[in-house]
Parts: sequence; structure tokens; C-alpha cells
Amino acid sequence: MDNNLILGIDLGTTNSLVGVVDAGFPILLADKNGERSTPSVVHYGSGGHITVGTAARRQQVLDSARTVFSVKRLIGRRPGESDWEPPYDLRVLGTTPSKVSAEILKHLKQVAEDSLGQNVSRAVITVPAFFNDAQRAATKHAAELAGLSVDRILAEPTAAALAYGLDQLGERKRVAVYDFGGGTFDISILEMRDGVFQVLSTAGDTQLGGDDIDAALVRYLKSKRDWTAAEDVAQDAAWTEAAERAKRQLSTHDSVEVILPFIDGSHSFHVVVERAELEQMARPFVDRTIKHCQRALHDAKLNVEDLDEVILVGGSTRMPLVRQRVRDAFKTEPNLSQNPDEAVAKGAVIQAGILSGALRQMILLDVTPLSLGIETFGGLMNIIIPRNSTIPCKAGEMFTNAVAGQESMLIRVLQGERELAKDNWELGRVEVPFPSGAKGTARVGVQFSIDADGILSVLARDTATGKDTVLEIQNTAVDVDDSRVEEMINASVEHALDDMNERIWTEAKMKSEELLAAVDEALPLVGDAVDTGAIRRASSAVREILEAELHDATALKRANATLDDVTQSLAVLLVERAMEEALDRKLGL
Ligand code: AMP
Repeated sequence: MDNNLILGIDLGTTNSLVGVVDAGFPILLADKNGERSTPSVVHYGSGGHITVGTAARRQQVLDSARTVFSVKRLIGRRPGESDWEPPYDLRVLGTTPSKVSAEILKHLKQVAEDSLGQNVSRAVITVPAFFNDAQRAATKHAAELAGLSVDRILAEPTAAALAYGLDQLGERKRVAVYDFGGGTFDISILEMRDGVFQVLSTAGDTQLGGDDIDAALVRYLKSKRDWTAAEDVAQDAAWTEAAERAKRQLSTHDSVEVILPFIDGSHSFHVVVERAELEQMARPFVDRTIKHCQRALHDAKLNVEDLDEVILVGGSTRMPLVRQRVRDAFKTEPNLSQNPDEAVAKGAVIQAGILSGALRQMILLDVTPLSLGIETFGGLMNIIIPRNSTIPCKAGEMFTNAVAGQESMLIRVLQGERELAKDNWELGRVEVPFPSGAKGTARVGVQFSIDADGILSVLARDTATGKDTVLEIQNTAVDVDDSRVEEMINASVEHALDDMNERIWTEAKMKSEELLAAVDEALPLVGDAVDTGAIRRASSAVREILEAELHDATALKRANATLDDVTQSLAVLLVERAMEEALDRKLGL
């Protein structure tokens, strides 16, 4: 038995889901009927028998006074505080919103235990971002009544963002979570700060959802009856069920037939509804959601252009009209990669997996926590795979020899964010042989690849001989202790200016050395043909800065530029001379 197991639970207004991380993957658990979604409905039978879920929902029409639904609208609120008046009386039923929620949670706990074959006593539970302390505390209390200790209460939009993998987007990235369910609409704007999502703003309407669209469709269908009928609660349930089913079908079909045989015992109903007709009925409700989106953006002091991603949550976002309006309002394609009904639950499971350690490896292996590279000329760090790259990944670069006659190159594999090789960590080293030649003639391709298990392979290929040298580094490339990553990043920020100056200095110094060597070689050849005074002056200016204690990168770059300038005539002259000589040789002079 695994005592560290933590359930992830989406305790929804209409439906609830439960899941767990299994073998490194977040999965949602199904009940004995194969259903992953449990209606958040509890029926209190007159004999004291309590049923939950689908069985309870069946009682809604037959025994409406004893069937409790949407209790999430009441939890943590004083009587009369909610803007919703339920058609049942909890006091008469001898219960409270927390106790009702506890029944739902008990049921979910049982579904999980049956499926896993073991007891579980810990959970992460999601709540709307706008839930206040009392509502959160009451939810926690409900879990305790159900025999679950709560490891974390998680905001629903944050859970959804986790399910969409948006925690990998990086710092300061902003996400809009558009959540349109059966009875409620929520919009949340999140920003990633220090690795966690902060809720910048939320807006919404607790009385706006797919149910409103169903009701509008019921009114429309009833208006198409060719007989007059009195109101009938039992019949209404059948109308609503038919309307909801038609609405769902219209998300994927252009038209649908609604057939209700002998709906009142003597009349049958048959009509065809087009998607365009449904959209006309739904438009006012969808428009209201868009107004809330604008409000949330305004509250977060952002424009749509400031958002990096828009994600859709809740069954009603399956409607093409909803997707279209969201696309238009946010001027971007919403991310549809997750199942909108399950995203919140999946996020709760992921959070539970992180807390229990079941997902730690996967999370850590997901991206490179620090940059990977090799040491190059002058002791500089040359990054090949930057920090935060998603793995598996591959990248490479070509290197050459720095000096003539060199027969091999030492490749030092480094990890870290500092500009100088010596300040980074060495993960390994390998000597790559190549045929000796003039400076810059060797061609060694270096490729880094990290596989899904976090193993870094460094392959160095001498392109002249085709010979490969391979170095394999176990997952130190990705599996680094958080505190060490933080230390390295802090150091790179702290030393950013000095490091950068040192890099520029080193690069300028290499340029100086190249120029001085060329000048020293050329000057004896040209004699008095050019004004060597200026060249000598410029060379000694460069040497002076090189020898100074102070690594003045800017001054060195300027001196290099002057030397480069005054040697132009020298270069031109040398080329001319060489051509003359070649011509003479050709003419036999
Ligand atoms: P939720 O509260 O997220 O479970 O969403 C439930 C709402 O989503 C209900 O109003 C459903 O009618 C609606 N819904 C589910 N699937 C679809 C669909 N395919 N098209 C339109 N609405 C849907």
C-alpha cells in the first residue's frame, strides 16, 4: 500500500471527478459503470438512505425536495447570502452544504479506492479562484468529514493551466482561463511568477452557463408544439434532457432532429433544429461571457496582446459559437489541446502528483534547469542548449582549431549561466583528435542531445575523417537540485556586468592577438612602401591596453578598430605585391 498517494479532485457545481498519478501519468478514475464524471447530486431517501451521483440525479424529478444539487453555490455562505435560492431545504433534510459535499467526496474516495484496491486519505481539491476564506475552509471541512486530509486547496484556473502544461511557459507569461460550465462562468487572468501562477484578476457570473442555453432551447421547442399543454414538472425534465442532448449534437452537426414520442401521453413531438438557430438563442449568453472577459482584462490592466495563451475549460466551450467569440475577443486561437471537461481535474491530479513526489521526476526532467555548453577560445562559455529547453532536444555547432599544428581539441562539457567557463560546472571532458593543419582548418562538429530520460550525449565529429567521439553524461544535465540551480542563477545575475565585460574583453583580446600577429608578420615585408609609423603607433596602443591590469574592453575594442583601419593600406599593398609577383612569374620575368 502506498501511503503517499494523494488524490486530485475537481469538486464541481454540476459534476465531480477524481484521479491520481499512476506510473508517472495523471489519470482520472472511473466508477463501476466506467463513468469518470460523477454528477454532484445527493439524494436523501426518506428512510435515511443516501445516494450520490447518477443514481441521485435520477431522483431529481421524482423526489425533487430531497435531491440536493449545486451545493457548491451554498458552501461557506451564511443562509440567504447566496444569490441562488435552491428548490430544497437543507434544514428539513437535516444537513448542511459541507455535509452534502462530504457525501460527494466520500463517493469519489470510494470510486478511487475501488479502482486502486487500497485506502486513500489525502487529497488536493480545487475551488473557484474567487472563493473566499470561509468557502475554502468549508470545502476543507467537507473533505475532513469524508475522511480526507487536504494537502492543498487549488484554484480551478491554476489547475487548468497546469493540465495544459502552461507552467512550462516561463516567467511573466500570462494566461487567460475561460471556464464556461453548466451553471457558472468564470474568467481568470493568471501570471507565472517565481514558478507559480498568480491570479491577476477574476470575473464571472455564478448564474450563467450551458443550463441557460438549454432553457432557451426548451422555450423554443415548446413554441413549436402544435397543441396547447399545461405545465408539468415530469415532462419538463424530458424537454430539458432532449434540449441538452440536441445542443451537444449541434456542436458537431449542422442540424439535428428532436423527437419526443408521446411526450404527454397523447402527442408526439418532432422538429429539426439548425445550428444557426441554436446559435441565435445562445448568442446573448455568450456575449455576456465576453463582457466579463473585458472586465477581467481591464482589472488586470492588460490588453489582449499581453496574453500568451487562452485556454478553454468547461463543457460549454465545446460549442463552436463559444470558440468563435473567444477567438474574436482575444484575437488569438484558443488552446484546445485538453479535454475541457477534465482539465481542472487533471490539473488537481498533477498538483497531487507533485506534492506526493510521484511526478517529481517527470517535472524535473521536462526542461533543462541550466544552460549546457562547452568551453571555447579564451575560456568562454559557448552555450549549445539554453536553459529551460524542453527535453528531449538536440543542438549543435561547428568548432575549429585555434592554433596551427594542433592535433586535438579538448571538449569540456559545461553547465551554468556564467559567461566564463571557469565559473560554470564541468560535467565531463573528452579529447577529440583531428589531423594537424593551419589555424582554422579543422572542422569539428559538436552535437548535444538529451533524451527523454535526461541523458546527455555529446558527439564530436571531425568532418575531415568522419570519426566520431562520443561522451555520455547521466542525467546530471537535467536533474539538478533546486537550491543549486537558484544559486547559479543568482550568481549569474549578481556578476552579470563583470561577466559580460570579461566576455567582451576576451573576445577583443583574441582579435588583438590576431591583428598583432598579422602586423608583425607583414611589416618586415613592406619596407618603406607604406607609412609604418601609424601602424606601429596603433600596435603599441593595443599592446599597452592588453598589458594594463584593468581589463578595459571598450578601450581595447576602439584600439583594435584603429589598428584594423591603419593596416588596411598594408593589406592592400601586400595583396598588390602578391599579384604582381604572380604576374611576373607568369610572364617569365
Ligand atoms: P461542466 O460544468 O464543465 O461539466 O459543463 C457542463 C455543461 O457543458 C453543460 O451545460 C453541458 O450541456 C455542456 N456541454 C457538454 N458537452 C457539450 C457539447 N459537446 N456541446 C455543447 N455543450 C456541451
